[in-house]
Amino acid sequence: MPGRRGRSGTEDEVRGIAIVGAGQAGLQLGLGLLEAGYEVTLVAERRPEEVRGGRVTSTQLMFGPALRVERAAGLALWDDTAPVMPGFELSHWEPQGQPDAPVHRFAAPLDDEVRSVDQRVKLAAWLELFEERGGRAEYRSVDPADVADLAAAHDLTVLATGRGQLSGLFEHDMSWPAHDRPPRTLACFYVHGVAHDDSDPAAGYVRTTGVPPAGDVIVMRALTVGGPCDIVLFEGRWDGVYDCWGDRPDVAEGWRRALELLRTHAPWEYERFRHAEPTDPGAALYGAITPTVRLPVAHVDGDRPVLGMADALAVHDPITGQGANNAARAAASYLGAVLERGDLPFDERWMRETFGAYWENARHTHAFTEFMVREPQPEQVRLVIEAAFAHPEVAHRFANGYADPSTYREWLLDPDGAAAYLAGFAK
Ligand SMILES: Cc1cc2nc3c(=O)[nH]c(=O)nc-3n(C[C@H](O)[C@H](O)[C@H](O)COP(=O)(O)OP(=O)(O)OC[C@H]3O[C@@H](n4cnc5c(N)ncnc54)[C@H](O)[C@@H]3O)c2cc1C
Repeated sequence: MPGRRGRSGTEDEVRGIAIVGAGQAGLQLGLGLLEAGYEVTLVAERRPEEVRGGRVTSTQLMFGPALRVERAAGLALWDDTAPVMPGFELSHWEPQGQPDAPVHRFAAPLDDEVRSVDQRVKLAAWLELFEERGGRAEYRSVDPADVADLAAAHDLTVLATGRGQLSGLFEHDMSWPAHDRPPRTLACFYVHGVAHDDSDPAAGYVRTTGVPPAGDVIVMRALTVGGPCDIVLFEGRWDGVYDCWGDRPDVAEGWRRALELLRTHAPWEYERFRHAEPTDPGAALYGAITPTVRLPVAHVDGDRPVLGMADALAVHDPITGQGANNAARAAASYLGAVLERGDLPFDERWMRETFGAYWENARHTHAFTEFMVREPQPEQVRLVIEAAFAHPEVAHRFANGYADPSTYREWLLDPDGAAAYLAGFAK
């Protein structure tokens, strides 16, 4: 089979693996496989310098468990430069024409680290590392016929193409709710020049402000191409005032509009952000994501199976900041499965089991996100957040659950469990 060579120093045969997509999932898996001695071909749409100089792609908050996965793989290259966010603040405000309406708010320290490294910085550097370490990078956009050629030439072909069109090769998993449109509209801006006042206890926190019926604004610290920055993400409800990006304005006009929205809907954020400016011409992102779960194996060229990964199989709205964390977990989990497989074939059954082992945990992040964007908001979510405004212990538990949403199963996602938990805080 083409693509085999001797493992360094031995006569063993090395298996050839193709990965399509140079995002968090594909690059992390590719680098891990290279390190383990596999021959890896990675097909990327853009070269490192194009990624670095392009548009932002995410807000990419990564929580402790996923950061440790990267660190264990030797890929946490920004530990000394990416700001750590020490807490989480949530504000609810229902002004409805009354600017003096009360703001409900809680702030909780985060026990584990949370960071955001601009994917333009991270993925460009990882792609360079991949080539430096002997990986074969091919630059083009892969079409389905190309996937068949890759599958014929490699022992295993993985599609890590995110929300790109190739995910259409994988059938929908009908056991998950089907959405006919995205739950939110999205707009995000990377800016510098934010006032970080030491006397502001929430400075440096991940902060979210919910204003029905507009939507939510989430702000965070990050490391971008030019150094530290702040990110503002609008999660707009359809037809609300945050649903205003359909004309995809350039970054200057988009930020002007964003400041105006902050001034009227989150004035405390406006005060922090009013002198900020976009970091660069690619510092704005507009879009919307339709939540989708797909089956993990597609067949090309007759019955040759290929395996999907991360966003190519399951995407959800970024309101909970979970997709890149899942991609990191998927990469670690798939790598372990490949190593364990030894010389046995990567057949369809193995592929299903490989995805199943990853999805066992990742499905909770999907379920949690479905809950957080559901309209109307599930009653127990409303009650838990209300309790968090009054009880620091509830606020702390809710805020720290984002690091591993499987921890919400019993006391937030399950109505009876939530009622039992909250009963302990009844007046
Ligand atoms: C506004 C926004 C905010 C977000 N915030 C967060 C957050 O705070 N925390 C978090 O964890 N997640 C967040 N996410 C989600 C996160 O960015 C994704 O879940 C994560 O990047 C998925 O990684 P991936 O490797 O599966 O896919 P991607 O990062 O999308 O990478 C896929 C790659 O495949 C390439 N590709 C696609 N099609 C082809 C093709 N045909 N041929 C070759 N290459 C191809 C693409 O160019 C891309 O490089 C956010 C997403 C958005 C949109």
